[in-house]
Amino acid sequence: MSDTDQHDGDNTKQEAANLFGLWCITMVVAIVFISSLSTRSSEGSKEPAGAKHAQPTQTTAPPLDASQTMAPLPAGHPSIEQLQAEAIAHAPTMPELPAGHPPLDAAPAPAPAVAPMHAPIEHAKADSHDQHEVHWGYEGEGGPDQWGTMKKEYLACGEGTQQSPINIDSGSLISSKVGDITFNYQPSPLEVLNNGHTVQVNFAPGSSIQFKGKTFELLQFHFHSPSEHQIDYRYFGMEAHLVHKSADGELAVIGIMLKKGESYPVMDAIWEHIPHEINKPITIVGATVNAADLLPADRSSFYHYMGSLTTPPCSEIVNWIVMKNPINVTDKQVTAFVSAVGENNRPVQPMHRRHVLTNAH
Ligand SMILES: [Zn+2]
Repeated sequence: MSDTDQHDGDNTKQEAANLFGLWCITMVVAIVFISSLSTRSSEGSKEPAGAKHAQPTQTTAPPLDASQTMAPLPAGHPSIEQLQAEAIAHAPTMPELPAGHPPLDAAPAPAPAVAPMHAPIEHAKADSHDQHEVHWGYEGEGGPDQWGTMKKEYLACGEGTQQSPINIDSGSLISSKVGDITFNYQPSPLEVLNNGHTVQVNFAPGSSIQFKGKTFELLQFHFHSPSEHQIDYRYFGMEAHLVHKSADGELAVIGIMLKKGESYPVMDAIWEHIPHEINKPITIVGATVNAADLLPADRSSFYHYMGSLTTPPCSEIVNWIVMKNPINVTDKQVTAFVSAVGENNRPVQPMHRRHVLTNAH
């Protein structure tokens, strides 16, 4: 219903009420008049009634015609009273509260603590992952070309643009005074770990380097076979990685190539103690190791570029320093290493927009 309809309806009701009032007055006057006529008649008037009637009749309101009376309700239409009773009977009522529901004026109950929708799904995934987990490795379904899709934490392995290792092309280096590395290496108790991916030597605090104005603490060194970096598309028998970390979480990793050759004392000491059990470090009582013994004689000729961890999660947080000159590893040591942990070199990665700086003299 529009406002106009409502307005028209009101007018019609008002008009009807006015007409009804007029009709009532007319009827009263007519009754009084007829009543007076009957009185006069009863008093024995001899005048013809019609002659006497003519005048008063003219003063009487004309009879109401159909258009001036309230239209009768159509047959079968409920009366106003019926409609009112019906309206009351059908007035909307509040639905009954379910049993146990607090009254509506009570303070709202706190929302029930429900676990986030994704929690059970994550949990289920974790469970199934435990049962069928494919660990990262260097071949098959856990191989380097799968790392980026194995876990969301490994995304950088597939989508990163500063990944390591790389081929170092000696023809396209940028000569730059990167600055020398200041080595501050101290002897540390010899602790050797086979973590299933590599043979690693852990370091006690106290050994560090300074590079690009920042101090990086030596945490450990470990090995890859064949080498991970290439120099002019050439692999070496092995590569050592000396992993350093700064106080703000940046890494500096020194890569040292190991070419097959004469025995190297520090390598001999470590290879004697490669653990066969995975993730159980061995500390050799009375033995120490100094990372300085792994460095080539020329410590100031190196390549530098920004890259990543060469294992998952492939985080792009590494200042890479690859020594230009190699040290030695024997054939026997390479064989022993590969039989302990397998070949463990990630393929070289695209350079994208990077350049390799050289500090070589
Ligand atoms: Zn490494």
